[in-house]
Amino acid sequence: MKEKLEKVAEALRKNNFDVHIVASGDEARKLALSLIPEGASVGLGGSVTVQQVGLLDALRNGKYRLFDQYEAGISREENIRRRKQGLTADFFVTGTNAVTEDGELVNIDGFGNRVAALAFGPSKVILLVGRNKLVKNIEAGFKRIYDVVAPKNAKRFGVNPPCVKDGKCSNCNHPQRICNIYSVIARQVEKGRITVILIDSDLGF
Ligand code: SF4
Repeated sequence: MKEKLEKVAEALRKNNFDVHIVASGDEARKLALSLIPEGASVGLGGSVTVQQVGLLDALRNGKYRLFDQYEAGISREENIRRRKQGLTADFFVTGTNAVTEDGELVNIDGFGNRVAALAFGPSKVILLVGRNKLVKNIEAGFKRIYDVVAPKNAKRFGVNPPCVKDGKCSNCNHPQRICNIYSVIARQVEKGRITVILIDSDLGF
């Protein structure tokens, strides 16, 4: 796996991403925090990995201006306002749904704020990526999203599109469909704008 991670890291670097490989979620959290200066504004994109490694809690408890749309009890209007604020934050912290062997990032989003922030806006983006997110190519990335990511996320959000029951995508038109915005980031013009922290551990989904 180490060799595979190194190869993907090399491919990502060729596409102008900064890349670090770490052994564990703890290391990933510490590294991410070392990249964000106190006082910085920080936006969030939905990511189980960011929660699992304790980075969300660390950001909540740290000296940052955090735009936290996941805070319990806030109104829908406030939730949307914080998502928008995240698009122009100094930093944006999230995960990605898949990384290809050619160093591309594949994502699907519900609202679109996460893929929008990945594409343009925040000056720096930090992605936490478990080794289970590595895929052969873009097609495999989308297959992973439809077969694995979307049904699990739908369950997590407490919604019930057909893939929750069927375990596969039917390109539904369900009112609670969670796959609405598609994105492939093949390369960055601005070298180092996106930092990818590859973690030699299975995290998120
Ligand atoms: S399009 Fe619908 S069925 Fe397919 S993965 Fe998304 S939510 Fe599930």
